[in-house]
Amino acid sequence: MQQPATQSQDQSLDEFWMPFTANRQFKSRPRMLESAEGMFYTDVEGREIIDGTSGLWCCNAGHGRKEIAEAVSKQVVKMDFAPTFQMGHPLPFQLAERLVEIAPKGLDRVFFTNSGSESVDTALKIALAYQRARGEGTRTRLIGRELGYHGVGFGGISVGGMVNNRKAFGVQLPGVDHLPHTLDLERNAFTRGLPKHGAELAEHLEKLVTLHGAENIAAVIVEPMSGSAGVILPPVGYLKRLREITAKHGILLIFDEVITGYGRVGAPFASQRWEVTPDIMTTAKGLTNGAIPMGAVFVSEQIQQAFMHGPKGLIEFFHGYTYSGHPVAAAAALATLDIYARDGLLTRAQELEIYWQEGLHSLKGMHHVIDIRNTGLVGAVHLASREGEPGARGYEVFEACYWDGLMVRCTGDIIAMSPPLIVEKSHIDRMINILGDVIRRTP
Ligand code: PMP
Repeated sequence: MQQPATQSQDQSLDEFWMPFTANRQFKSRPRMLESAEGMFYTDVEGREIIDGTSGLWCCNAGHGRKEIAEAVSKQVVKMDFAPTFQMGHPLPFQLAERLVEIAPKGLDRVFFTNSGSESVDTALKIALAYQRARGEGTRTRLIGRELGYHGVGFGGISVGGMVNNRKAFGVQLPGVDHLPHTLDLERNAFTRGLPKHGAELAEHLEKLVTLHGAENIAAVIVEPMSGSAGVILPPVGYLKRLREITAKHGILLIFDEVITGYGRVGAPFASQRWEVTPDIMTTAKGLTNGAIPMGAVFVSEQIQQAFMHGPKGLIEFFHGYTYSGHPVAAAAALATLDIYARDGLLTRAQELEIYWQEGLHSLKGMHHVIDIRNTGLVGAVHLASREGEPGARGYEVFEACYWDGLMVRCTGDIIAMSPPLIVEKSHIDRMINILGDVIRRTP
């Protein structure tokens, strides 16, 4: 048993195989969180860490929400579990109705999952099955985008475009192409808000249509804003152009809003902020404020109706999870939506956007900083890679921030932040100060 350097308890760190973690390195000095309240985590040594990332982009209403805790504990006692296969209970119906009220107009049917990855797989399967159901069964190809992150299912890593998430596994879904990503440091570095250059990158979709034939393409999936790849924003006009091209060719447009959903960019969903409505929208994370795993896929009534033509009494869509519409998760989500509505959190990112933007951009001019990107309450500081050691500087900054009391994410040499939507200006100042100090002393 390996004994952690900084932990007092006699706790083995060997058995838990940590996800997306440098397991061996973690053990040498574990970052071990113990409790959370509002904007802050506290670690096992009592150190306070300001949450610059809403956990993993999910605790949008901050931590320790009593209303969610009460709803969850009440529901566990009232009815811990009930199937939703050929059986129902009121909560997912109530939740779906509430979600449709805040969703982009036209997305008025909801399929429940347990995570972002499951939402993505569900969306891809709905897209493929929909094309068949409407008699377009040759449409089997899927199109993702370079640097896209769509979770870790085989569907998600196939349409996703982050090479490390794919290369260890060999096989993937066949018939997948990728649009070019929209990160362009040469033309767009240090833009405040959406980049001005790059809408024309959407035209690449026309090339794929010419190559494969529209009659063979089922759907295009993109994150309106790529979060995990390091906050890559859509150039002005880009999403609109994707919408036009997909609509013209009968190709479904899927927005993966697992990160952007539930208020991150200043509207309930990015498609509302940027005024482009997809055919299918995936969500998870902020749906329950991260307290209980849950995801939701939104589709139009018209898509769902395409499944409803067969004989009555037969299952229309052979897909679902044991925990789809789980009563405890649904109770957590309903309590979360109440908080979002009562505290105005789904639009708060827009109110604080300029303050957040100016804070982040105050780091411009520091050594290593080659780009700063922001929208709503999300942002990234892009650092130059150290010669021959891509990602090393980003990791060092991430680690040092943690020990200085700030949680950030690093992806390669990009430092990403997405604070809970309850953040105050004083928290933003504190986050920027810590990050600035750390960058200043990082070689
Ligand atoms: N899609 C997007 C856009 C995401 O950001 C994530 C997670 N960061 C996922 C899907 C996968 O979600 P999960 O980890 O809950 O499976």
